[in-house]
Amino acid sequence: MSRPRIVIVGAGFAGYQTARTLCRLSKGAADVVLINPHDYFLYVPLLPEVATGILEPRRISVSIPGTLPDVRLILGEADSVDLTRRSVGLVDPEGHRREISYDRLVLAAGSVNKLLPIPGVTEHAHGFRGMPEALYLRDHMTRQIEMAGAADDPEERAARSTFVVVGAGYTGTEVAAHGKLFTDELARTQPTLRDREPPRWKLLDIAPRVLPGLPEHMAETAERVLTRRGVEVSMGVSVEEATKEGVRLTDGRFVPTHSLIWCVGVRPDPLVGDIGLETAKGRLCVDAYLSVPGHPEVFACGDAAAVPDLNNPGEITPMTAQHAWRQGRTVAHNIAASYGRGERRRYRHRDLGFVVDLGGFQAAANPLQVPLSGPVAKAVTRGYHLAAMPGNRVRTGADWLLDAALSRQAVQMGLVRSDAVPLENNAPELPVRLSG
Ligand SMILES: Cc1cc2nc3c(=O)[nH]c(=O)nc-3n(C[C@H](O)[C@H](O)[C@H](O)COP(=O)(O)OP(=O)(O)OC[C@H]3O[C@@H](n4cnc5c(N)ncnc54)[C@H](O)[C@@H]3O)c2cc1C
Repeated sequence: MSRPRIVIVGAGFAGYQTARTLCRLSKGAADVVLINPHDYFLYVPLLPEVATGILEPRRISVSIPGTLPDVRLILGEADSVDLTRRSVGLVDPEGHRREISYDRLVLAAGSVNKLLPIPGVTEHAHGFRGMPEALYLRDHMTRQIEMAGAADDPEERAARSTFVVVGAGYTGTEVAAHGKLFTDELARTQPTLRDREPPRWKLLDIAPRVLPGLPEHMAETAERVLTRRGVEVSMGVSVEEATKEGVRLTDGRFVPTHSLIWCVGVRPDPLVGDIGLETAKGRLCVDAYLSVPGHPEVFACGDAAAVPDLNNPGEITPMTAQHAWRQGRTVAHNIAASYGRGERRRYRHRDLGFVVDLGGFQAAANPLQVPLSGPVAKAVTRGYHLAAMPGNRVRTGADWLLDAALSRQAVQMGLVRSDAVPLENNAPELPVRLSG
């Protein structure tokens, strides 16, 4: 009898964990196929540390073949699903189309940058959702400070030394907190900047406080640390227009800058909206068993799925790694159950708390709802990340030790150009292919 084929689209928190658990449960009785544009699982929460030179990019990129040797990895971007013929269409990295049939399908394609209809933002802002954007930002910050150091015109120097982050959720808050420390250190290497005002960072959000949605004490800690560090935190304010010269804010002020970092949130990967199945807020609707109503052979999980939150009836689970990881495990168990191995289970998870790394010795955390800040929160945050990573722990820990002892490496590699990471991009996991 041929082995059933289980095709998983997306190797992020949800898809990687589905594949890992399925391999364990099936013990070789199933053909587990993972479709992903790249050959690694990206530990997204540590991206701000890659952008600011603490971690090298490969530390948070865990090899799929190296850690899931029983999974068949197909490199490519899925772009269609035929529910009648039970097949997925994809384009491989060399542009060839192929189709792969499935007995069970798991859609776990994650999310992409959210856009807002604000003039100039698509042209002048960069998002922060994937590795190419983090590598671009690291180079961009280094370049801006180096060019500010070489500028004769004080206005140019000021604009190049100003960085605006829009969105004070955990992504924007971490980017601003780490970014300020990084550019301050870079500026100290420039003889013309050393004795001037340090680089200026602004963190904006239309919400009344930073970290909206997270506990009040975490917001207070983050705002205190950011303000002490010199980040200008402006709440209740957003961008009205972005231009090549800077940004006009909704309170009328104009901020000259060449750096607009867009962290307003994410939207589900557009793939799930194109399949012809029911969606809620762009996420694919599933039942409490994470299967698509009317299609018991199709499952969805993670940011791309609208999963009923059984602890908050009427709500769907938030887009977090914590949920995506556990949903992946539930999907694997329910697929095994569909072949008679074990019982189906409903997805239910109560948040274990959250961690926000603020750079240096600072963090805000609430493990198991215990409020923590300062170095203790930092230790918990780093310990949590190391425990949560499915590989590369020693290398990541070694980078942290090196960063504590040495100064950051301020060099631009120039490998990711600005136009390779447009904000409007349905695949932020890869740099856009440029002709010429
Ligand atoms: C900077 C940042 C920091 C964060 N920090 C935290 C945190 O501290 N704690 C927390 O809980 N959450 C955090 N999050 C949110 C968390 O990263 C997401 O909720 C989580 O990654 C969702 O997991 P996922 O598997 O659904 O998607 P992802 O992890 O994004 O994985 C999706 C995968 O699908 C692939 N893919 C996409 N489209 C296709 C396609 N068409 N075909 C094939 N493959 C495709 C992608 O390449 C990717 O590998 C953070 C997010 C960001 C951006």
